[in-house]
Amino acid sequence: MKPEYKPDPVVNGDQRQPFKKDEYVPLKKEVFVKKETALDAMAGDGGYEEAYLGDHLRFKMKREGKRFWAGDNISDYLHEGDIEKLIDEATPAFELVLDRLLIDRENDPNSKGTARRLAKMYFNEIMAGRYEPAPDATAFPNDSEDRYEGMLVVRSELRSMCSHHHQPVSGVAYIGIIAAEKLIGLSKYTRIAQWCARRGTLQEELANDIAREIGKATGAKDLGIYIQATHGCCENRGIMAHSSLTQTTVLKGAFRDDPGTKKEFMDNIKLQQEFAPR
Ligand SMILES: [Zn+2]
Repeated sequence: MKPEYKPDPVVNGDQRQPFKKDEYVPLKKEVFVKKETALDAMAGDGGYEEAYLGDHLRFKMKREGKRFWAGDNISDYLHEGDIEKLIDEATPAFELVLDRLLIDRENDPNSKGTARRLAKMYFNEIMAGRYEPAPDATAFPNDSEDRYEGMLVVRSELRSMCSHHHQPVSGVAYIGIIAAEKLIGLSKYTRIAQWCARRGTLQEELANDIAREIGKATGAKDLGIYIQATHGCCENRGIMAHSSLTQTTVLKGAFRDDPGTKKEFMDNIKLQQEFAPR
C-alpha cells in the first residue's frame, strides 16, 4: 500500500503573512536619524556617553583637527566646571603612577593625597596656560600727536616646564617693542608671557609664542624677545649641570633688520640685568 502523502502545514505552509493594513495606523511624526561616522559614535555625539570627559575632549579635538600638544592652548574646548571634572579624572591616573612606582600611598603620610595634589597642580598651576583663555589685555590708543614712539623693554619672570621631562624651567624674558598704534598696560606683557610659559614648552618655542601673542595684543610689528632660563632637565638629571643657562632670541621687524634698534634692545637688557641680576 502506498502511504498517502500529507504535507506538514507548519513546515510547508505559506510563510508569507499578508500585511493587514487595517491593523496598523501610520505614525504621523517625521523621524530623523543622524548621519553618523564611526568617530562621531566614539566622540559621543551619537548618544554614547564616555566614561571620561577627557576622552570626549580628545576625540573632539582630533575630529576637528585641533592640535593639542603640551604647549598648545585648548581653552576654546573647555566649559565652566570642566577643570574640576578633569582634575577628578586625572587623580586616579596619578594614583596608578604612584602604585606602579611602588610608593605606599596608603600608609606613607606624605604620599597620601599626592595624586590629587599632582592633578590640581598640573591643571591650576604648572600647565594653567593650556586651559585658561588669553589674559585680557585692553589696548589703549597711542595715535595722538605726542604719541610715544620709543622702545619699551619689559622684564618678565617666567616659570615653565619642559615638555620632554616635565622638569622646571625658570628664567626671565625681556620683551622689547617699538610702540605701535596701541599700548597695553605694563603688567600685561608679563601676564601674556606667563600665560605662554605655564605649559609644557621648549624654550625656542616659548620665545616664538611670546612674540606672536605680544604682537597680537599690541599690533607691534617691531619686536624682540630675549629669554634666559635654567632647565631642571639639565640640572636635576642627565648631565646634572648646575648653572647651565640657555638663551634664545626672536627678533622681528626693525629689531632684526636695523642694527641700531637691535643694539638698543641688547643694551637695555644689559641695563636691566645690572638692575636686577637673575
Ligand atoms: Zn627636558
